[in-house]
Amino acid sequence: MSDTKPAITRTAIVTGASRGIGRAIAVELGSLGLNVAINFNSSVDAANEAAALVTQAGGNAMTIQGDVGNSNDRKRIVESVENKWGRIDLLINNAGVAPKTRLDLLETTEESFDYVVGTNLKGPFFLSQLVANHMVRRISEYPAGHIPAIVNVGSISAFTVSVNRGEYCVAKAGIGMMTQLFAARLAEHGVHVYEIRPGVIATDMTSKVKGKYDKMVEDGVFPLRRWGQPEDIAKVVRSIAQGLLPYCTGQAINVDGGFHMLRL
Ligand code: NAP
Repeated sequence: MSDTKPAITRTAIVTGASRGIGRAIAVELGSLGLNVAINFNSSVDAANEAAALVTQAGGNAMTIQGDVGNSNDRKRIVESVENKWGRIDLLINNAGVAPKTRLDLLETTEESFDYVVGTNLKGPFFLSQLVANHMVRRISEYPAGHIPAIVNVGSISAFTVSVNRGEYCVAKAGIGMMTQLFAARLAEHGVHVYEIRPGVIATDMTSKVKGKYDKMVEDGVFPLRRWGQPEDIAKVVRSIAQGLLPYCTGQAINVDGGFHMLRL
């Protein structure tokens, strides 16, 4: 009989992991050998591709369709992961949408507000609540040294005004407070909560306004003078997953090439 102890396999849910930043996060977590639940809303082929990449990187993958803005879907996402893998170690609230049409603040519609805030703020808020309750219930099951964590993908839009997509800025500002609320509430249980604020990252979301951002990069608006890549965000998530920020919680980590600095 072998006396080799089975490796501890941890489980992560990454919302919006079919494409872009979420996919890169899923693959990075796969490379750490995690079980990765790849949530997506509509891009089934892209989600399957992401799952193949996670497996190739060394992890285990499952795909779960579900709209994070929908209460029943959120419950189904969590239950599917519990049924397949049991304990959830990491929740990465990454799924997000831009307004379908950029409208001036004086013209923004309630429909667009509900769509963007429902997906980008209400969704992560109540998904965090579900997973936080799961983590608190099972807190004694986490192996020593493995910190259960929730990571919220916010944005520089939390503190940067764009008057042609106010609903997006409001949602991302809300993610800042949501991160602190959950961090404060969960600290006594040993669950950590982090926010990552990406700058301008090369994904489908920004491809529609590439020209505008190319010019800003060229002009040095982002001091590191390059576009961010999805992997820049994924590397920060990797550090969190590895437990390398053990005395930090409620933190917003800017991953924006230095954009956040006020300069004269
Ligand atoms: P993206 O390329 O447009 O990908 C969005 C992802 O979210 C897709 O996987 C999409 O899945 C999923 N998604 C959309 N609505 C969903 C819903 N209701 N339920 C579940 N999944 C849903 O976007 P991205 O650039 O990677 O952005 C990821 C996150 O980073 C977002 O929260 C975004 O606000 C934030 N962010 C991005 C940038 C940037 O420059 N790109 C900057 C700051 C912050 P389907 O295709 O299957 O629908």
